[in-house]
Amino acid sequence: MSAPYPWLEPAWRQLASWQGRPPGALLIAGPRGVGKLALARAWAQSLLCGSQPACGQCASCRWFAEGVHPDFLYLTLEERENAAGEVRLAQEIDVAQARRAVDFVRLSAHQGGWRVVLVHPADALNRAAANALLKVLEEGPINTVFVLVSDAAHRLLATLRSRCRRLDIGLPPRQAALDWLVEHGAREAPLAWVGGAPLRALECEEQGLSGQRREVLAQLAQPAAMEPTAQAEAWAALGNESWFELTYRWLVDLLACHLGVAPTRNPDFAEALGQLGRRVERGALLELLAATAAEGRVLRHPLNAAAQREAWMMRYRHLFGERRPARVA
Ligand SMILES: [Zn+2]
Repeated sequence: MSAPYPWLEPAWRQLASWQGRPPGALLIAGPRGVGKLALARAWAQSLLCGSQPACGQCASCRWFAEGVHPDFLYLTLEERENAAGEVRLAQEIDVAQARRAVDFVRLSAHQGGWRVVLVHPADALNRAAANALLKVLEEGPINTVFVLVSDAAHRLLATLRSRCRRLDIGLPPRQAALDWLVEHGAREAPLAWVGGAPLRALECEEQGLSGQRREVLAQLAQPAAMEPTAQAEAWAALGNESWFELTYRWLVDLLACHLGVAPTRNPDFAEALGQLGRRVERGALLELLAATAAEGRVLRHPLNAAAQREAWMMRYRHLFGERRPARVA
């Protein structure tokens, strides 16, 4: 086993150079969808196995693969039941979880080798949890490696961040990402739309979002033909985050085209965006962009998706002077 993805080879070599003398805490930072977690897991496995790459055969590797390694602890967002009895993914890693890590590192290593605590997404640690981890890091526990993985490292508690050696993972070169997607049967995956992160592009393709994106954007490309009531109903099932990403990136591209710049997120719709960019009313576009961004910040709030989307589409049509009332279904 080498690097989990071809573009991670340089980072993998860097990690290999620390084998035997790893930092007590490592922060793997970079955009979403470039394989940071897979890299962290592969390195954790190799530390526990004792060889890099990990052999994949020994007892340690088997335990790791089965998720039962006694010297490995994974802190992540857990599912919790809310007041309404719904099970949802928690939005933060809390202090009770961090205390599990503290107890874990204060025990002696089961195998007499390394112990690894992997935290992902590390920016989800709440303040109390981050402080608990910081405290144990400052004790410099023997034979313990903390690996923090984050898409938003700037949100980490600064004192915690400064205790970590940092490994930045950037976006792979575009052609390498495209080649990899083709190899994985995802030629149509929207690489530009996700900002160049190949794993995120593949995920979009596998979850059907890639096709939904093309449908939604084909409709936004023709504001005069839009039917906000019916379309809002049809798109109500689309997740809030997906809806936000679709509409926000579309508006950003529209603004770029209005200013005579090529669209970066939706280059496959460059022609339609170019035409709309010439017609759009700038002030109204900026207002809708700001409003869309503000809605994006409260994505997790419960809301009536269909009504919100209908209102958005009405405003969107107005950008182009489309004031024909929406047809009532
Ligand atoms: Zn092994």
